[in-house]
Amino acid sequence: MIPPAFDYERADSAEHAVQLLGQLGDDAKLLAGGHSLIPLMRLRLAAPSTLVDIGKVDELAYVRDAGDHVAIGAMTRHEAVHGDALLREHCPILPYAAGLVGDPQVRRRGTIGGASAHGDPASDIPSTLVALGATFVVRGASGERTVPASDFFRGFFEVDVAPDELLTEIRVPKTGASGWSYQKFNHRAQDWATVGVAAVVDRSNGSVSHAAIALTSMGEVPIRAASVEAALASGAGPADAAEHADEGTNPVSDPFGSSEYRRALSKVLTRRALEEALSR
Ligand code: FAD
Repeated sequence: MIPPAFDYERADSAEHAVQLLGQLGDDAKLLAGGHSLIPLMRLRLAAPSTLVDIGKVDELAYVRDAGDHVAIGAMTRHEAVHGDALLREHCPILPYAAGLVGDPQVRRRGTIGGASAHGDPASDIPSTLVALGATFVVRGASGERTVPASDFFRGFFEVDVAPDELLTEIRVPKTGASGWSYQKFNHRAQDWATVGVAAVVDRSNGSVSHAAIALTSMGEVPIRAASVEAALASGAGPADAAEHADEGTNPVSDPFGSSEYRRALSKVLTRRALEEALSR
């Protein structure tokens, strides 16, 4: 289908993008890689009055060492995240998950900022960022603010970014020697996750000292599997802990799987994620 008519503005810089959003009002939308927004517009599920294109704002495309964390510009493409040596060294789960997004064409256009701001619960990137305890940097006319991943994803396709704000950076803590795993089940290689599980796990003296497990496609937002984390903290092994994976979740039924199927899948994938993370 053809999208409804819209105006088009190209931003030259992050500041220019924020200025344009302020001038154009709530019906304007940022266009990053366009791989989620344009399909929505073609289905007429989104009808922005103006697209503010940030595709050429190169100042937002970077991966930098920032001491205890790695700073990633919002316009960094999935392919760049996947191939980045700094991320592979310090936060390897994120480049791994980025490599599972869609297909090569999607990864060359789609951005980490777009995947985060879109807030799709079936996306691999938000749950991975939740498991990593990332922080989001958001800029508006009155300045910059930071939002922890635990507060950023607020509802179904809803994140803590106002219509006149720009997500500029994602800060990902270095995971050091933590074990990690991202398990994704999908029907075809380029599909979103029917269910996904991101796990970042620390061990000391043979037992789990810290675990962050986040689930993809198990509710309206990426969900921390708190009961799995609690079970691990009390000494449960991967198989027993994983049995709690669907507690507190609310998975949908759709053509890719029923709610019951997703609940069962979440347990299997959580067990696999924990086994892999603990073996690293
Ligand atoms: P856009 O489509 O440009 O924007 C998405 C939304 O975010 C819009 O509302 C836009 O206004 C807003 N936005 C964008 N950037 C910013 C910003 N900096 N600040 C504030 N708001 C912003 N994703 C997966 O995780 N896993 C998959 O397996 C997967 N498979 C896919 C398969 C196909 C065929 C396609 C088309 C997409 C797939 N995706 C998948 C989605 C892909 O990751 C998208 O690239 C991503 O969700 C959106 O990024 P984008 O840069 O294209 O954002």
